[in-house]
Amino acid sequence: MGNYDVIIVEGGPAGSTAARGCAERGFKTLLIDKALFPRYKPCGGALSFRTINSLGFEIPQEMIEAECKGVNVYYKGEMSSYKKKGRVTVMVSREKFDNLLFEMAKERGCMTLTGERVVSVESSGGYIKVNTEKGAYSARFVVGADGVNSIVSRFINGTSHKEFLSATAFVSRVEEPLSGNEFLNFYFGNVHGGYAWVFPHGRYLSAGIWGLDWLDSKPVDSMKRFLSSNNFSTDNIRGHKMPLWDRRRKICSERVLLAGDAGGFVDSFSGEGISNAILSGRIAAESIADSLKNRESAGDNYKKKCNSLFVNNLKYSMYFTRLIFRFPEFFLKSFVLDNSLLRQYLEDQASNTS
Ligand SMILES: Cc1cc2nc3c(=O)[nH]c(=O)nc-3n(C[C@H](O)[C@H](O)[C@H](O)COP(=O)(O)OP(=O)(O)OC[C@H]3O[C@@H](n4cnc5c(N)ncnc54)[C@H](O)[C@@H]3O)c2cc1C
Repeated sequence: MGNYDVIIVEGGPAGSTAARGCAERGFKTLLIDKALFPRYKPCGGALSFRTINSLGFEIPQEMIEAECKGVNVYYKGEMSSYKKKGRVTVMVSREKFDNLLFEMAKERGCMTLTGERVVSVESSGGYIKVNTEKGAYSARFVVGADGVNSIVSRFINGTSHKEFLSATAFVSRVEEPLSGNEFLNFYFGNVHGGYAWVFPHGRYLSAGIWGLDWLDSKPVDSMKRFLSSNNFSTDNIRGHKMPLWDRRRKICSERVLLAGDAGGFVDSFSGEGISNAILSGRIAAESIADSLKNRESAGDNYKKKCNSLFVNNLKYSMYFTRLIFRFPEFFLKSFVLDNSLLRQYLEDQASNTS
């Protein structure tokens, strides 16, 4: 059994960012992931303006598959379109993007264990013990960034993600180039409590759906219907549940912090999760550093910073989303027919306005 300052459970965007932040501050850091990297991750691959801003480094040009400057929104035969001067998103393959973040954490001195599944977490004296299928490791702090079925969240919340609000997303890779296409396409009205999308990736497309679980009880059917209506194959569907902000969920204890999907940090309207995964990973490393320096509770610090930087936005997004899907005809029609609302939404995203 090894002793560490910090153990990070997982190497997705949240975990690798937290691991990089801890390792570059000189903490003895261990990152554990059940997967071997590079690993596949079902995703639309859209990195929003917020995500790009929160990274703290430039995405290598060779990793960018497409740059989108505009958005098309469709609803019941109507269409609205808005194009910005600058980019709205960059499109990447998650396999390559996540591997970049993972390698950066390693370069900063983080130790890694891959191909090793975490099975439980427990308190042990003044330490937190992380048990895997192969061994046990302990640390003063643990960052649980192990995604939707988080074992670390179960330790803090005493229950599984199934008890909290969630959505489901599916994606399919379509081998059809749309070269020169600079638009993200969103289709409302096809999915109860969500939307369908088609994103350009240069040499291929990603097509998928996103829907709130309490409004769409048959997301696989919605996905198949959407793919078939576009003459796309239904053979290659991948996806999973995504945890949403829920006031009943604890996001930390004094020395265990939940980051990314494990904390329920996915936006309930857009389904975007990568920016808050990166932001929460960064805040986790800062909160642990502050705690070691000033003897403050890492958990109190983490909660305060997350609330002020993005959790309040998630809360309002949830109210907004519930309202929209309670009266979809009124709100979605307004959104589609009134181009200024779409423009405002995209400008707010770009300027980090709540
Ligand atoms: C179909 C789909 C499309 C999406 N499209 C977009 C998009 O275009 N843009 C966007 O911003 N967001 C998108 N999202 C959301 C985004 O993918 C997530 O919010 C993001 O990946 C969260 O990052 P994370 O680091 O918290 O977790 P993840 O990226 O899920 O990483 C979790 C990691 O934990 C590891 N792990 C899990 N359990 C254990 C365990 N017991 N022991 C050890 N390791 C474990 C896994 O191997 C994995 O590497 C999409 C999601 C889906 C499902």
